[in-house]
Amino acid sequence: MVTQTIACRHCASTDLVKNGLAPNNAKQRYLCHACGRQSREDPSPNGYTEERKEEILRAYQERPSLRGLRRTFGVSPTTVISWLKKR
Ligand SMILES: [Zn+2]
Repeated sequence: MVTQTIACRHCASTDLVKNGLAPNNAKQRYLCHACGRQSREDPSPNGYTEERKEEILRAYQERPSLRGLRRTFGVSPTTVISWLKKR
């Protein structure tokens, strides 16, 4: 069994309490006891979910146009390039 530890993304403390859901993406929000700031569950880089990222990268493989991606998905070319570099 995998235990997922949620850590504060501001101070890396794991002393977090649940603090309702984020309004726009329905993810669990956490309030950090150590620094008093809020963290979200699995904050994905640049705010894209894994599924969204895969979808965008698939589209890019079919039609490698960064400008087209920006038009279709509203994703910045810099973001796509950083994803491509990580693969
Ligand atoms: Zn914290």
